[in-house]
Amino acid sequence: MQNIKGKIHSIQSLGTVDGPGVRFVAFLAGCPLRCSCCHNPDTWSAENADAYTAGELVSKAEAFKSYFGKRGGITLSGGEPLCQPEFVEAVFALCKERGINTCLDTSGCFLDSKVKNALEFCDRVLLDIKYTRSDLYRRHVGMELSQAVEFLDYLNEQKIPVTVRQVIVPGINDYEENFEALSDIIKAHDCVDSVELLPFRKICQTKYDEMGIEFPFGGIDEANSLTVRETERRLKENIWKR
Ligand code: SF4
Repeated sequence: MQNIKGKIHSIQSLGTVDGPGVRFVAFLAGCPLRCSCCHNPDTWSAENADAYTAGELVSKAEAFKSYFGKRGGITLSGGEPLCQPEFVEAVFALCKERGINTCLDTSGCFLDSKVKNALEFCDRVLLDIKYTRSDLYRRHVGMELSQAVEFLDYLNEQKIPVTVRQVIVPGINDYEENFEALSDIIKAHDCVDSVELLPFRKICQTKYDEMGIEFPFGGIDEANSLTVRETERRLKENIWKR
């Protein structure tokens, strides 16, 4: 298992926004989706990515263990990390052996037996519910809303703690019915214990320019952080009555 190889786009030694506490974040290369709001189009292809064995990656993460504290650990993000489910399983299994908390940042687009094996060693999932309408999922993600919900159903069955995340894009999903529908999805799944609304940003425009491709949401204004934070507060209040 130590020797299973994965393709890594990049590594952030100590991050604080991809899961609880301080975390070692590895961005795995490759993604089958094409989200219109994607901030990391440079992770879509695994062609020129570095190859690491699971053992190498976990040893690298372990060097930062003293910074993790009680809540931190490793996060596998992407791209879509579940494009490489055996590697995710190998990394997470090794982490569990070495007492490192594991977190997976995913779109929930895959749910086969290999993914289920990987989830056995996962302490938390950061699940993007990108929209609450099927047509928006098809047009702006390239998958079905039902796939993300089925993924969440499975996490609920397995009692794996989940943080639901959604990027708020002005004029696309910043409307009340979306927040009500998101609230309903979360309330129907006890495994979800937190929700994060993230303001749409365009700092990734330069990546699209360098790649010579169009940023589909390039013409949309960035979201107002204060408004998004207030919406997140109201959403949490509605879901957990606090
Ligand atoms: S799933 Fe993530 S990496 Fe893939 S296209 Fe969507 S936002 Fe980009």
